[in-house]
Amino acid sequence: MQLISGKAVSADIRVELAEKTGKFAEKFGRVPALAVIIVGDDPASHTYVNNKIKGCAQVGFRSICQKYENGTPQEEIADCIRSLAADDGVDGILVQLPLPKGYDEKYLLSLIPDCKDVDGFSPTNTGLLSMNTPNTVSCTPLGVMHLLASTGVELAGKDAVVIGRSNTVGKPMAMLLINANCTVTVCHSKTKDLARYTRNADIVVVAIGRPDFLKGDMVKEGAIVIDVGINRVDGKLVGDVDFEQVAPKCSFITPVPGGVGPMTITMLLANTLSAAENRLS
Ligand code: NAP
Repeated sequence: MQLISGKAVSADIRVELAEKTGKFAEKFGRVPALAVIIVGDDPASHTYVNNKIKGCAQVGFRSICQKYENGTPQEEIADCIRSLAADDGVDGILVQLPLPKGYDEKYLLSLIPDCKDVDGFSPTNTGLLSMNTPNTVSCTPLGVMHLLASTGVELAGKDAVVIGRSNTVGKPMAMLLINANCTVTVCHSKTKDLARYTRNADIVVVAIGRPDFLKGDMVKEGAIVIDVGINRVDGKLVGDVDFEQVAPKCSFITPVPGGVGPMTITMLLANTLSAAENRLS
């Protein structure tokens, strides 16, 4: 069994991004800029946003962080997004999700133009991915594809199972694997006898948010297992995979923490640089 280190893959990509940022600045006279909007005081969301801001600094981007208290009128936040959308010096806009209750997530996200949608959540970017002509792709599944590539294993022809069908993780993950010529099955909470699918899979990606869900008897010998889940149990971070049971059967597996997690922000940075290059070139 080999561990796939998201930390190591992510660190390598960030070094490349920092180099590309230098070249971008020489060419365009400024560095790429990412704007992050956060509403409310959810501690996990603030940690994610702080890490995004730190990531920007690490690769040499400019970052803008707009913080709003829960209860701020929705139109005030909408105006902020509109003004960032119109600002030629801003390349990417991200609204940290989930928003507190009472805000219309769909409406606020719809104000981000496709060319600045660095999360890859817009209907256009989602549609382009499903047509295998991707523009900006959702960061977490994109990070998983880099981790799979780091194994050196040929993906074409492999049987892959994705557990979870959210618009932001499961569905784009399935699309990316289809586009990579895998044969893909998507399982979810209504799937009957889910282990029937996972037991035959060469690749299993679990993204459901249920600690220790994937057990040893649910995977075949030599499978590649990617654990997207982030769960807090007794103050400890754990994934969706029962690592002790599953790892001995795998050819490759991601740990939690240190697997998919570090890749997500790195992909956000990569998406921001691409958005800047596409807009200015
Ligand atoms: P989500 O929107 O809550 O979706 C969860 C999905 O899992 C749904 O499709 C749901 O099925 C399915 N599901 C739930 N319980 C299940 C069960 N017992 N058996 C089979 N399927 C089940 O969550 P998400 O945003 O996709 O995130 C999933 C996990 O990934 C969470 O732990 C989240 O924290 C983590 N995550 C990690 C990163 C990272 O950077 N590492 C990034 C994003 C998310 P239904 O559709 O039938 O309800």
